[in-house]
Amino acid sequence: MNKNEILRQLPKMDRILQEPEAEELCRLYGKNRILGILRQELDSLRKELLEGKATEAAVENAQPTELFISRLLQQARERTKALEEPSYRRVFNATGILLHTNLGRAPLGKRQMEAAFQSMCGFSNLEYRLSEGKRGKRQAHYADMICQITGAEAAVAVNNNAAAVTLILATMAHKKEVIVSRGELIEIGGHFRIPEVMEQSGAFLRETGCTNRTRISDYEQAVTEETAAFLKVHTSNYKIVGFTEETSVEELSALGKKHGIPVIVDLGSGVLVDLEKYGLAHEPTVGEILRKGADVVCFSGDKLLGGPQAGIIVGKKEYIQKMEQHPLMRALRLDKCTTAVLEATFREYFCEKQAWENIPVLKMIARTKDELLAQAEEISWELNSCSCSGKIAVTESSAVIGGGSLPGETMPDYAVEIFPEKETAQQLADRLRLLPVPIVSHIKNDRVLLEMRTISEEEKREFTAELKEVLDEK
Ligand SMILES: *Cc1c(COP(=O)(O)O)cnc(C)c1O
Repeated sequence: MNKNEILRQLPKMDRILQEPEAEELCRLYGKNRILGILRQELDSLRKELLEGKATEAAVENAQPTELFISRLLQQARERTKALEEPSYRRVFNATGILLHTNLGRAPLGKRQMEAAFQSMCGFSNLEYRLSEGKRGKRQAHYADMICQITGAEAAVAVNNNAAAVTLILATMAHKKEVIVSRGELIEIGGHFRIPEVMEQSGAFLRETGCTNRTRISDYEQAVTEETAAFLKVHTSNYKIVGFTEETSVEELSALGKKHGIPVIVDLGSGVLVDLEKYGLAHEPTVGEILRKGADVVCFSGDKLLGGPQAGIIVGKKEYIQKMEQHPLMRALRLDKCTTAVLEATFREYFCEKQAWENIPVLKMIARTKDELLAQAEEISWELNSCSCSGKIAVTESSAVIGGGSLPGETMPDYAVEIFPEKETAQQLADRLRLLPVPIVSHIKNDRVLLEMRTISEEEKREFTAELKEVLDEK
């Protein structure tokens, strides 16, 4: 049968709606919705046939009419059912990537979640000073705390660090030049590229130095009447190795003082604690960068800080105040939930020991090899005790911070390794992602690896129970 014949024989909507199955769907989900879905399916098939793009299967499926209608209705049922399922869900992150941008970056701790919940219940003092009964600022909930922790004069937060960089440049360098090293013109992903952000903010990029080496003299030579700032960008997702030279914040700040030019540092991840204790490379803390003379520093809320998605800006009062008054601020400001979680996050940092215990990202970093091995052995023992096919073992592996932080740095980890016998590793990994609480794993050498560092003590039981269910042969 040729395409035109098939097209002519496609059933009319009235004919489809006469089916008892169609009547039931309309009763369950509403006639308009079902009509809409059926029309979409029919139209797209018609279009594919007309344009000659229909697959052989689609052409075959279009005949005979009775079967075609029943398949069409089945599709409509599946599509409406899928819409009833929540799309946004909790998952188990067994990838060993601590800050996984696709999996929501930093998970929150109990007190941070409690703050989120409270902020959403009814009214709050978001912008209201209870002591005076007057209008207040939403920054008031966290600004003083950030200043105490980092030693900054002032602080403000916006939607994310990309917004922070935009606001800083728009406020401090509109229609002026900003000098940046050629080694720091980064792209973070998701269209965040320093030259493009710069353009959007209305500042002009003035590149200096070379990709691998930028000296203080390069910065000095680039200074003109039009220079509004020096910008240093943390190369947070790549490393330049070999014959390299980078100008320090101290040197740049000294040069800035000489010429009356402020130094801005985009720190990216922005840590407040010393990571060296846990065997990671030294990452300068926000306080350190400020002490070295930076005038304005910005960093993400949901990277190593372990808080909500936000961009935190700290530094000299004169600049922060201007940012607060900038028209963009209104578009970039935090909502009440994020404001509350940010406050709760910084409250944990008031005592460093408490932060290591309560901020999940820091907790993951602090877990010892022994703890991880014990957890892997316990899970693998439980899985081996059920009647599953496939080989299950514990293997040494490694985890990374991720989220464009500390590139090249790894942390020791242990993984539960599953070598399936009756399916491929990919098939097993696919099944794991379809569980009630989906498990995101990774594959190596035809084995599914479940990394332990990103599965918390609290998640362990539910995680194991799900795996048992999936692997059990009964
Ligand atoms: C991650 C990162 C950003 C973007 O931060 P978001 O909070 O994701 O918007 C900007 N600059 C640097 C250096 C970064 O590492």
